[in-house]
Amino acid sequence: AKRAGGAGYRLYDPAMRERAKRRGELESELRTALETGQLLTHYQPVITAEGFKSRHLAGVEALVRWRHPIRGMIPPLEFIGVAEDTGLIVPLGHAVLRMACIDFVAWKREHGDAAPRRLAVNVSRAQLTLPSFAGQVKDVLETTGMLASDLQLELTESLAVQDSAVQTCLLELKALGVSLALDDFGTGYSSLSCLHLLPVDTVKIDRSFVDSAGSSLHHRVLIEATIRVAHSLGMTTVAEGVETGEQANILAALHCDKLQGYYFSRPLPAEELVAWMTRSRE
Ligand code: C2E
Ligand code: CA
Ligand code: CA
Ligand code: CA
Repeated sequence: AKRAGGAGYRLYDPAMRERAKRRGELESELRTALETGQLLTHYQPVITAEGFKSRHLAGVEALVRWRHPIRGMIPPLEFIGVAEDTGLIVPLGHAVLRMACIDFVAWKREHGDAAPRRLAVNVSRAQLTLPSFAGQVKDVLETTGMLASDLQLELTESLAVQDSAVQTCLLELKALGVSLALDDFGTGYSSLSCLHLLPVDTVKIDRSFVDSAGSSLHHRVLIEATIRVAHSLGMTTVAEGVETGEQANILAALHCDKLQGYYFSRPLPAEELVAWMTRSRE
């Protein structure tokens, strides 16, 4: 882009113009998607690490999906960025939270002990800087009958340490009784030494560490240190992206509390998660 006489930016590069056009289209399609209910949530099981072979469903993470009428299923990585840049993440995040709470409350009512104990939902920075965010969460809890203590909100590291508006919001959420998880842990910097500064209850060890848990002693040591520090601060740990039995064994041996990944299950449509609950009760 070249600056055009102070009047803003004009795009001369055709590739860049093409990209801007596609983003514009994506934005308006996403708006339609929100209005017409094309967005839905899938749920990935989170398993208790101890005795993981019994596949005890400790919780689920809600992950948004976009069923586009023409293009089919669009993965979140292709639209979360646009949603964040345009502010659409606020209504999107609200819709996901609402849908997930409705499903969770129904599972709990219909499946009792076989239902997941906790629902994790991702939140973005733009949501946490809204002065009304905690109030919106409270509202969703009340209208869906969801217990605050059953809900965990996942946020990324860079977000959690930053400004005081975010800190205030996190404390308001804690006051509601909602728990907080630090997502993708280990991908930022100076993380372990900052952990005690954050009002989080759970640390999610990033997939990149879990991936190499079997092959890299260095990563294994880092995972072990993370789990130790988290536990000493009274936090629980979840390993993300567990793809093999070997990784699950290593993480359980390092006393990680919960495991999540394709080894156990991909994110599932609600009906398939219900089938999992019914199976596990037999
Ligand atoms: P995330 O929060 O780190 O979610 C985990 C991602 O890893 C999911 O991708 C999940 O399908 C994938 N995954 C789980 N287990 C494995 C595994 O064993 N191996 C591999 N290779 N991948 C695994 P997904 O669903 O495509 O979501 C991508 C990202 O999009 C999420 O990363 C999250 O940052 C964002 N996202 C998804 N739903 C929402 C939402 O409702 N709100 C916001 N703000 N962000 C969301
Ligand atoms: Ca997450
Ligand atoms: Ca993650
Ligand atoms: Ca992520």
